[in-house]
Amino acid sequence: MKHIVLYSNGAQSAYTSYLVAKKCGRKNLVLLHNPTGAEHPDSERFADDISELIGVQITEISCGINLWELIEKENFIPNPRAAFCTRMLKVEPARKYFKTLNEPFTVYLGYTKDEKCRAERFIKANPDLNVMFPLIEKDLSAEDAKKKLLKLGIKLPESYLYFQHNNCIPCVKGGKSYFKQVLKYFPDEFWKMAELEKRFNHTVLKDISLEKLAKEVA
Ligand code: SF4
Repeated sequence: MKHIVLYSNGAQSAYTSYLVAKKCGRKNLVLLHNPTGAEHPDSERFADDISELIGVQITEISCGINLWELIEKENFIPNPRAAFCTRMLKVEPARKYFKTLNEPFTVYLGYTKDEKCRAERFIKANPDLNVMFPLIEKDLSAEDAKKKLLKLGIKLPESYLYFQHNNCIPCVKGGKSYFKQVLKYFPDEFWKMAELEKRFNHTVLKDISLEKLAKEVA
C-alpha cells in the first residue's frame, strides 16, 4: 500500500507529510509535488528542508509547462470562476502518476478543520480515490500547521510574509487585496499579468483590471 501526500510546498501539506510519515513510515510514502513554475523561489529551500526532516525525496511530476506558458497556450487567463490552471498543472499530472501505480494507494490532503466542506467536495468529485485528511482528523487549523512546523525547527516559506498561502505568484484565485499585495511586493509579476489582461482583453478580477487597481492604490 502506497501513501501519497499531495505536497504543495504549503505549510498544511508539509505538516500533513510529517504526520503521515510518523503514522505510516517512510518506506511507502510518496510526497507528490506538481510544480506550477510560478512559485516563490524560497519554496525550493522549504521543499529541501521538509524532505530532509521526513527523510523522503519529493517526487516532482510536471505537465511540462509553467503557469505563464499555460496562459499563452490557452490564450486565456484563468480566474476564480475558471481556474483551469489547477486542473492542468496539478490535478491531471497527479492523475497520470496514479495510473502508473500497480498497487493500492491512499491519497492524503492538507485540508484543515476549517475546510471540511472543501474536503467533502473533494471526496464527491473523486469517488475512485481513497482519501484521508490528517489535519482534519487532528482538528488542526492552518495556523496550527505553521506553528507545528516552526516547533520542528522548519523555517516557513517566505511567501507567508506577504500572503496567506504559498501559491503561485500571482495566484489567479486571489481577490483585490491579494493583488494589491502582489503589486507591492512582486511588481514584475503583477505587471506581467496586467499586460496579459490587455492582450487577451479580459481580467483576472471580476470587475476591475489590474491596471485600474494599480491606479486605485497609487
Ligand atoms: S495556485 Fe492559483 S494560479 Fe497557481 S495553479 Fe493554483 S489556482 Fe492556479
